[in-house]
Amino acid sequence: MIARPLLPDAADPRPTLGVLGGGQLGRMFAHAAQAAGYAVAVLDPNAAGPAGQVAQRQIAAAYDDPAGWAALASCCQAVTTEFENVPAQALDWLAQRLPVSPSAAAVAVCQDRAREKAFFERAGVPCAPHVVVRSDADLAAVPPSLLPGILKTASLGYDGKGQRTVHAPGELAAAWEALGRRPCVLEQRLALKLELSVIVARGQDGAMAQLPVQQNLHRDGILAVTQAPAPDLPDAVAAQAVDAARTLAAALDYVGVLCVEFFVLADGRLVANEMAPRPHNSGHCSIDACDVSQFELQLRTLAGLPLVMPRQHSPAVMLNLLGDLWFAPGTDDPRTPPWDRVLALPGARLHLYGKAEPRRGRKMGPLTVTAARADQARRVAQQAAALLGLPAF
Ligand code: ATP
Ligand code: MG
Repeated sequence: MIARPLLPDAADPRPTLGVLGGGQLGRMFAHAAQAAGYAVAVLDPNAAGPAGQVAQRQIAAAYDDPAGWAALASCCQAVTTEFENVPAQALDWLAQRLPVSPSAAAVAVCQDRAREKAFFERAGVPCAPHVVVRSDADLAAVPPSLLPGILKTASLGYDGKGQRTVHAPGELAAAWEALGRRPCVLEQRLALKLELSVIVARGQDGAMAQLPVQQNLHRDGILAVTQAPAPDLPDAVAAQAVDAARTLAAALDYVGVLCVEFFVLADGRLVANEMAPRPHNSGHCSIDACDVSQFELQLRTLAGLPLVMPRQHSPAVMLNLLGDLWFAPGTDDPRTPPWDRVLALPGARLHLYGKAEPRRGRKMGPLTVTAARADQARRVAQQAAALLGLPAF
């Protein structure tokens, strides 16, 4: 625990905050922390990653290398994580020496879909009907009522990877085989009306604040578009999503930024999908649309600073740009997307992660459009999508 806030002061004009993980979320955290006068140290096996490029210090070490943990502990006053698959031992070892948030225990729940769904149920937040599959016997016992369903690996899935749709019982064995017979969750495929996310921050003192509910559109299992405010969401369901996210953060005794993804079903019911123990791709529009971004929330929780409720001053639409845009349509010829035309649009702002090599399906950075009114933001974002060759939404 931090007894008092960790602030740049006369004794230490530039305290250093550590980040486990060198990806884009670490980069954006570093930007927010540096803007407030902190220095940032990043531990990542790849020294030239998006966060390492901007941090004051990089420690190039494997996440399970105790020498790397020691190097981080020796130069930082507090540590956070930017991705959920850091080994629990790393967080535990660091937490014995300096403030670490979120905790290893909270991250462990988010790392494993089976544990996560059991936690949703314990906390009284509905999730998709499901069973855990760890053996042939589990597979044989899958109730046909769960089909068509989605078999998902319990750990290490992202962007829809590690998932197989199963239509009939006869397809189960092959799907599990294709996923390497790893521990899985089979969940019923639900008819989705909307997808939402809520980003909630919880401080060491239990205070909470959240960003406005975001409406997300996925294509091929990857986030494509986020709109805030959520255009199609009844107020009552938005309030329910915020309540559920806060309930989950409190039940985890969470410290840090937690993103909870939800489905709204065709009949209007709200169902929790999964959690990320960190800022989230869908929260990037908070940088341009809110007076406190998701990364500033992360900074405040880590440094023990007061949490205030962020105010969204501008409606926003975010287009999640993938590496596919760096190829001329229908070819493998590299191109530069038409930034000159896109950035001529009012309210458009480009945030690239600094990844050297664009690859298909690889997240390269968001384009955020803000405007005085939601319909204007949406219209301009549609123009940007058309210029980039992205489908309308
Ligand atoms: P990420 O970590 O990038 O958010 P992921 O690989 O962990 O993604 P999920 O969030 O589980 O994957 O699923 C990706 C998308 O697939 C969801 O956003 C949703 O569009 C769809 N999906 C997942 N589970 C279901 C379900 N039970 N019913 C219907 N659609 C689903
Ligand atoms: Mg997801």
